[in-house]
Amino acid sequence: MELTNDSQASILCKSCGLCCTGHLFAWTKLRSAELDNAERLGLKVLRSIPSQRGFNQPCPLWKGQCTVYASPDYPHFCHTYKCALLKKLLDETIALREALRVVEDAKGKICEVEASLPDSTNPNFRERLAARLEDPAYSQETSGQDPLEFRQKADELLALYSKVFGVNDVVGASSEPPIAQ
Ligand code: SF4
Repeated sequence: MELTNDSQASILCKSCGLCCTGHLFAWTKLRSAELDNAERLGLKVLRSIPSQRGFNQPCPLWKGQCTVYASPDYPHFCHTYKCALLKKLLDETIALREALRVVEDAKGKICEVEASLPDSTNPNFRERLAARLEDPAYSQETSGQDPLEFRQKADELLALYSKVFGVNDVVGASSEPPIAQ
């Protein structure tokens, strides 16, 4: 039986989850009317800056798949967000098998970069990566790693983020809200 586009999208997103897990984004936007409901769902809501209302990633409700997808309180942005890869799948300009391979490749590159990031209490990969790339003091002498090798791996990952997922400005993004206290 041939899978519908929606079924294929579901398979892809369940195998990926990168837009929920803090790898592509630091936080997810919420509408003002969604803030209380999101808190009831168990999300750590950011309220203080009107233009940056949302919740921190990694989303605690992603457990290999979204656990609140069917909830009436499922946030609007989660419902409507489509990365460039998902759009290509829905447009039928990439086959599911190839899209899944691309996601695996991205996850492999993330693992390689993750292994070179300094220890941190921040669970958000995107923020840790940006902090590492923006920290001039983090040198070979302090880390025991080859900074050029790390930079090359990080650049490859950022290029993939841009080309595959359509996500740019991981480094130097000034609009990111701080982690909620
Ligand atoms: S990053 Fe794209 S493919 Fe991955 S879960 Fe999000 S929308 Fe789906």
